[in-house]
Amino acid sequence: MSKIYDEDNVFAKILRAEIPYEKVLENKYALAFNDINPQAPIHVLVIPKNPYTDLYNFIQNANLEEVKCFWELVNDVISKKGIEDMGFRIITNSGKDGNQDVPHFHAHVLGGKNLGRMIN
Ligand code: 5GP
Repeated sequence: MSKIYDEDNVFAKILRAEIPYEKVLENKYALAFNDINPQAPIHVLVIPKNPYTDLYNFIQNANLEEVKCFWELVNDVISKKGIEDMGFRIITNSGKDGNQDVPHFHAHVLGGKNLGRMIN
């Protein structure tokens, strides 16, 4: 994954409100919205509002408040969806081997059913 941020990626367009999306929650530094092609009954994407290409780039460059806000929003999505006891899976794909499609850092929050083994 190139570390040069692509301003035309779909999540950048969502952040600029150029394309529609179903918002779940947001805070000062992060936005959560439903995945357009859900892989589970609950499939929410959490993204930072600032431009980072992947998790590695985010942790290297974001300040502590941004990192805290990001993971707090993941927790708030888990609470809002009521899956803290049933369980869930957080996935963040990165780069070529991670099969990352959208080059803006995001965490998938998946739940609402038994998700099976981690890697097929
Ligand atoms: P990745 O493969 O990069 O980890 O995941 C990208 C995710 O973004 C996929 O699950 C895909 O369904 C989702 N996605 C792609 N385009 C859009 C879009 O325009 N809107 C929303 N809400 N999700 C999208």
